[in-house]
Amino acid sequence: MTARPDHRRLGRELDLFDTDPLMGAGLPYWLPDGAAVRHALEEYVRDAERRAGYQHVYSPVLGKRELYEISGHWSHYSEDMFPPMELGGEQVVLRPSLCPHHALIYRSRSHSYRELPLRIAELGGMYRSEPSGVLGGLTRVRAIQLNDAHLFCTLEQVAEEASAALGLIHRAYEAMGIRAARHRLSLPGPGGKYVADPELWRRSAALLREVLDRSGVAYEAVEGEAAFYGPKIDVQIADPAGRESTLSTVQIDFHQPERFDLHYIGADGAKHRPVMVHRSVIGSLERAVAHLIEAHGGAFPPWLAPTQLVALPVSDARAEVEQAADLVRRCLDRGLRARLITPDQGTLGARIRAARLVPYQAVIGPRETAADEIALRLRDGRRLDPQPAAEALDRITRLVRAHSTELTG
Ligand SMILES: [Zn+2]
Repeated sequence: MTARPDHRRLGRELDLFDTDPLMGAGLPYWLPDGAAVRHALEEYVRDAERRAGYQHVYSPVLGKRELYEISGHWSHYSEDMFPPMELGGEQVVLRPSLCPHHALIYRSRSHSYRELPLRIAELGGMYRSEPSGVLGGLTRVRAIQLNDAHLFCTLEQVAEEASAALGLIHRAYEAMGIRAARHRLSLPGPGGKYVADPELWRRSAALLREVLDRSGVAYEAVEGEAAFYGPKIDVQIADPAGRESTLSTVQIDFHQPERFDLHYIGADGAKHRPVMVHRSVIGSLERAVAHLIEAHGGAFPPWLAPTQLVALPVSDARAEVEQAADLVRRCLDRGLRARLITPDQGTLGARIRAARLVPYQAVIGPRETAADEIALRLRDGRRLDPQPAAEALDRITRLVRAHSTELTG
């Protein structure tokens, strides 16, 4: 029986990420190949957000304790927060979420109803003081990079904004070649720590139901899984053993706009309270990459592959090696990630096996060198007829730019 894909084992075997006891448990670092996957994901999501009308910001990973007292994290979430640091008579905390910072960014300028919905996005760091016993791989970590955004809008705009966010999530899953195990409407449950206001909870849950019903996806309502400030749609993924976790979320929040006294100027010239929609398309980069590793067994869709093409000269004849090196340069010029594997690194068969997860392998012999052609071997075992190198590279570039999960098309 073959072992189920485990992102920890594959992550180490494929040189994607690792940990060091000196950096600390739950604080993995990304090796170049893992960083390439993560970077491709970051670029994808930033571009998708930009096209969907989001504006990107940067905010610091620390904040004063008072900030989280106002947001409610301090009283509802402090068990998961790092202890505060004393600094010049103040206490600062590693942030447990980006929401309070984005609320302050919204509040820093006055807003007219004409500017809404205002969509603020950031791929930013946040921290969770997970207990040592549960730490491991990329799924239980203490430092998290979150694909986060907050949509500030009127009550009438909430359903449409939340629906559009769900659409972004579904398109991203298609591009990543993964599927949701289940959609969950996460509601408060007995005994949990939630901000009190039954009427607001009822309204936001009703809005989320409307979004889910309109989207046509099947979902289950589950009690006890809401955020402390509001209910949410959780898009669940399952690992190869069937264990579920939440990757993406859409949340409706009436609470933090109150706490931060956010407002916009309406058409009537008076101040009105916006609603805050929290949403994450691909969740944390750590969890997203862990899931991609397991879902694809390391054979990522071409746009995510750490190396997209390897050039393999058949012999160490100078012309062949130079042709292969030139092919790599032409890939890099097109924005592709390519690598040369020379004959001193093994027989052709051994080099092909070593590059078995690379989507495209270009074997360069005397014929390819003379004609500036490549005969591509695909990761799935298919072999394409020799074609002019420029044409083949253009085709690959098109597939990569389209975030296709296919190797040809
Ligand atoms: Zn948030």
